[in-house]
This record gives sequence, structure tokens and C-alpha cells, in this order.
Amino acid sequence: MLAQRTRNKTAWRIGAAAVLLLVTQEFTRANDATPPNVVLIFCDDLGYGDVGCFGARGYQTPHLDTMARDGIRFTDFYVASPVCSASRAALMTGCYPERVSIRGALGPRDRTGLSHDESTIAEVLKRRGYATGMAGKWHLGCNPSQLPIHHGFDEYLGIPYSGDMWPHHPEAPKTYPKLPLIDGDHATDADITPEDQVTLTTRFADRAVDFIRRNRERPFFFYLAFNQPHVPLFAGDRFRGKTERGLFGDVLTEIDASIGRVLATLKENGLDEKTLVIFTSDNGPWLSYGDHAGSAGPLREGKGTCFDGGIREPMIARWPGHIPAGKVCREPASTIDVLPTLAALAGAKLPERPIDGLDIRPLLLGEPGARSPHDSLFFYYANGQLQSMRSGQWKLLFPHVARTMNGQAPGHGGIPGKYRKLEVGLELYDLDADIGERTNLASQRPELVRELEKKADAIRRELGDSLRKQQGTAVRPPDRAPVRSGA
Ligand code: MG
Repeated sequence: MLAQRTRNKTAWRIGAAAVLLLVTQEFTRANDATPPNVVLIFCDDLGYGDVGCFGARGYQTPHLDTMARDGIRFTDFYVASPVCSASRAALMTGCYPERVSIRGALGPRDRTGLSHDESTIAEVLKRRGYATGMAGKWHLGCNPSQLPIHHGFDEYLGIPYSGDMWPHHPEAPKTYPKLPLIDGDHATDADITPEDQVTLTTRFADRAVDFIRRNRERPFFFYLAFNQPHVPLFAGDRFRGKTERGLFGDVLTEIDASIGRVLATLKENGLDEKTLVIFTSDNGPWLSYGDHAGSAGPLREGKGTCFDGGIREPMIARWPGHIPAGKVCREPASTIDVLPTLAALAGAKLPERPIDGLDIRPLLLGEPGARSPHDSLFFYYANGQLQSMRSGQWKLLFPHVARTMNGQAPGHGGIPGKYRKLEVGLELYDLDADIGERTNLASQRPELVRELEKKADAIRRELGDSLRKQQGTAVRPPDRAPVRSGA
């Protein structure tokens, strides 16, 4: 009896020790998996061909190229819409812009903004204890209550919308209000002048550098949203007149040098292996601006179209010790995947409301044989038109009216040329064989077209399609500021 009791006691002790060991191991593992810092760098109107390692000519981007050599380059990375606000809504929320009702480019007097019922990347990571900061262009609502510090960012320095929405721009309506520089939710400079604009790229990078230094002891998320190379182009004094490509090349050189400073700051603070850095842009080049526009490289068309030139972007990610060096990912992925992927890496909860993005950690971390989790990606533009979709190697465009500069006189020196209308039919392209979307295979592959159409019908039921006068059942309203901004 006594022997039995001793055996039981011993067994209990062994069991308790095993449980303790497991708990300790779990705890150690959890500590090993300290959430990574994240620096998300987003450009404005940067084309697929505007980075050295994606084929840029006439200037160099050595820091971005090194970032790609140290990490991974995505060749088939998409935004959700070919224009600023809609694209940024998708990045920030992980949702198609139609789901959160942010369309097109919001104007300086718009009352519309991103709903406070949506969760941004900043809010998701903040709930996990991250310090959160942003510098640059927001463009998801310009009224004070709609600015980044009311969407999960602890701090913000930047411009509330595009740099061309100001009275100084040759093409802008003269009724545009002055463009403010915002710190927090107040204008720190109520009237940005051209002399101020030349300083912005470096000032936004300065804020990123300062933020990283201040927060080096805790997990942080910084969103560095350069408002260049969107027109009007401005490069700092040290960069102007330095490249064969002219002002556009100078602007890219400054952006690249600024990214170099951010990477150097991470290194100096011992944060290289603790920090994931992601680089991409909001939409393709604004082609009507000619020499002041970027290049879509081999892709067709640009900003404001759902051909790949408008929606496919260079994407580079770097995280030494976690992302293998020199990888190239050719699987389709999208800015809508950034939120769920960062949430998974950080061990943070996803937003409660449905989102469209998916966790692409296997692609990002360069796992061999990793495949895109998306069966299809959908592209909305122009007041709720579902204009195109990508599924595997296939791209399907739905009949609509787009715009093109083909055959038009190009813009020059910051003055745009004029687009002409382009009637787009039902068009099917095999992007593996035809990256420039030249050979329409729709009539040769009717069954494939029908199959893709069925997939499009499913998203139309949820998000609607104004080309078919169809309302979506899952569309959520935006924020409406009660009073128009005077900013
Ligand atoms: Mg843009």
C-alpha cells in the first residue's frame, strides 16, 4: 500500500515536472517569437519598371536593389485598385476598397474617410503592444477626425492627400484649398509652398529615423508613405539635376537614399534581424505626364486602368535571418495580404469584420514550393466597376471604357498630355506567355472565360459591380465627417 502510494507520488512528481518543462519550453518559444518590428514603405504612382532591380534606366536605386538581394522580390504583386485612396484603403484594412466604400482619390473637400469601425494595420498591431507611427501621404480622409492618429497611429507627420491637390498645380482647379502639413491632427504648416515640397521626402524619412531610434526597445510599426513620385515632382537640393532621366530619376534617387538611411538606422540600433521591411507602391505610373511619369516596364497601360500597368507593383521585402537572401516570388499576392500576414507574424488578432486578404507568410518567408493562397484577385475602379481579375496565370478584363496614351502627344515638364478613350472588351490574357496583355484569347478559350466569370459573379454578389448595376450585399459604409474640412 505504502509502496503503491510512493509510486503514485513519484509518478505525480514526474508528471508535474514534465508539465513544467512543457510550459517553460512554450514560454521560451513565445519569447523567441518576439513580434517583429515592421517598416512599411509605400510610394505614390511608382511604376513596375521604376526600381533598378525591376529594370529602371537612367538612374540607380542601390539601396532598394541591395534590399532585394538581402531578401525577396515579388514579381506578381498587386494593389487592389489603380488609384490612390482606394489602393491605400486596401493596404490599411486588408479589404477590397469596395468592401469599405473608399473609391478613387478623395478630394481636399471630401467629407468621406475610412470608417472608424474598420481596423487598420496600426490598430491590429497596437493591440499587440506595438508603438505605431506614420509619415507621408494618408489620403483616407482629410478631416481632423479622419487622420491617422484616429486610426491607430500614435503619431503622424504628413500631407492628408496628394501633392497636386493644391492651388500651385498647373492642372488643378483654382478652387483647391491650400495644402497643409499635418502633425498629429493639426496643421503645423497651413500652406505648403513649392519650396516646402522639395524638403518633404527627406523630412518624412527623418521622422522614420527618429521614430525607430525612440522605439528601439519595443515592437514598432512605422508606415513611411512617400508622396513622390506622384506629380508635381520635387527632389531635394542635393538630388536635383543628377540623373540622366531628369527630375523623375532625381526623385527616385532621393527616395532610394532615404530608404538607405532607414536601413542604416535599423543596423546601427541592432534591429536588422528584428525588423521586417516591406517596399511597394499604391498604383502604376500616371502616363499622361510623359517625362514626369514613371514606367510600367513591360506591362500594359498605367494608373487609372486595370491592365497590369495600373495595378502590378514592384514589391521587395527584407528580414535578415527570416527571409532567405536573393529570393524571387512569382506567385500572385496583393496589398490586401499585408494586414493578415503582419497580424500572423505578430501573433495579433485579425479584425472582427470580414477581410479579403490572406496570410502569405509561406511566400514572404521564401518557403520552397509555396503557392499563392488566392484563387483569384479582383480589381475595381471608377465608381464600383469590376474591371478585371487575375486567376493563376490568367487575366480577364470585363467590357468597360478605359484610357490610354497610345498615339497621343506625351506630357512634358509637369504638364500632362491628353488621354484618349479606350474601349475594352471581354479580354483574356495568358500573363505567363504575354506579360504585356497583347493577345486576347477570349474567343479561343470560352470555357475558361465562363469559369472565371463564375468566380467574378461570387465577388459581385458581395461587393457589387456598377458595370452590371449590381449592388453588393457585404458593402460597409465609409466615415462621413460632420463638417467639411477647411484645411
Ligand atoms: Mg497614387
